[in-house]
Amino acid sequence: MKKGRCPKCGSHDIYSGENISLKKGTYGSNTIPLGGLFGSMIPLDNYVCTACGYVESYINQPRDLKKIRERWPHLYYGKRGDQS
Ligand SMILES: [Zn+2]
Repeated sequence: MKKGRCPKCGSHDIYSGENISLKKGTYGSNTIPLGGLFGSMIPLDNYVCTACGYVESYINQPRDLKKIRERWPHLYYGKRGDQS
C-alpha cells in the first residue's frame, strides 16, 4: 500500500495522509491508544484507496514502535515484549 497499490482491489488510486496536519491531538485525532496510566496516544499514518475505500494505518516513529513492544502482549510469545 505504501508503494501505491491497493492490496485488496489492485488499484493505484492510493492517497497518503502521512503529512497531513494535526495528526496527533485531543479530539478527532488519528491515533491509536497505547494504554497504561497516562493514556498515551500514538499517531498513525493512513493510506487510503479511493477505488474501494480500503485504509491501512502505520506507526511511523521507531520510538513509538518500541513503546508498543514494551507495553502490549506479543501474540506469538503470549506475553509482553522484551525478547531482545
Ligand atoms: Zn482498493
